[in-house]
Amino acid sequence: MDPRSSWDLPALGALPRTAELEPLVTRVLAPNPSGMTLDGTNTYLVGAPGSGQAVVVDPGPPAAAHLAAVEAALAARHAEVVAVLVTHHHGDHAEAAAPWSRHFGVRVGAADPSVAGPGGRVLQPGEHLALAGTTVGVVATPGHTADHLAFRLESGAVLVGDHVLGRGTSVVTHPEGDVVAYLASLRRVHDLGPAALYCGHGPELTVDPGAVLAYYTAHRAHREQQLLDALAGGPSTVDQLVATVYAAVPQALWPAAAQSTRATLAKLTAEGRVRPGAGETVGLA
Ligand SMILES: [Zn+2]
Repeated sequence: MDPRSSWDLPALGALPRTAELEPLVTRVLAPNPSGMTLDGTNTYLVGAPGSGQAVVVDPGPPAAAHLAAVEAALAARHAEVVAVLVTHHHGDHAEAAAPWSRHFGVRVGAADPSVAGPGGRVLQPGEHLALAGTTVGVVATPGHTADHLAFRLESGAVLVGDHVLGRGTSVVTHPEGDVVAYLASLRRVHDLGPAALYCGHGPELTVDPGAVLAYYTAHRAHREQQLLDALAGGPSTVDQLVATVYAAVPQALWPAAAQSTRATLAKLTAEGRVRPGAGETVGLA
């Protein structure tokens, strides 16, 4: 059971364009809503009040209207940008990193060297970045993608990118993602005891972040068991498994569900519980 079902969260599409989440953090919602990005991509401005500085986390898409909204939020904080940080390489988070780093005259920090770019900073897990009058901890959270990072703030809140979403659950991409790494990353963030989760998409999760992380872990185990139950009926293709396991999910999301399914089958194959069958099928080992 998703603990958020009893929380008072804003409905899909009802997130404010700009919101101050705590003195350290302002969120600016990008105008790119979709089935995968939910309300749109959340861009975060992080900086100590009065420092006159802010870090942009996940600039998102390079839309003029989004840049204008971010600059308005910076003006309201009386802050200038000192760095751009990126949680992972997907375009809905990273595409504006290069143009905005030029626009603001600052460097990009990311785990993926191609996102950090020439002159950028390749971030290492465990680093503590002294930026904008505060400290940002770099936390490895591979799983959704191989390069995924979370950023832990001095307040105890964690910016989690697509590791955890404000609504529903995230996708373990395939072949880049990794279910075993994803589960370890959920545990790693849980062990931080986060005061809040600020997600790449959807509302901030503040009521009981640990319960959401536990639900995410249980949800992956549930999907794995559903796959094993389906395969107990005989070998299946990935498409057949998705149609069975994700029957209650809108078909527009089935391509993403197929990626999570392939990622889970890779885990089960590595564990010797599933093996390739005839043609495109997989079956129980
Ligand atoms: Zn995303």
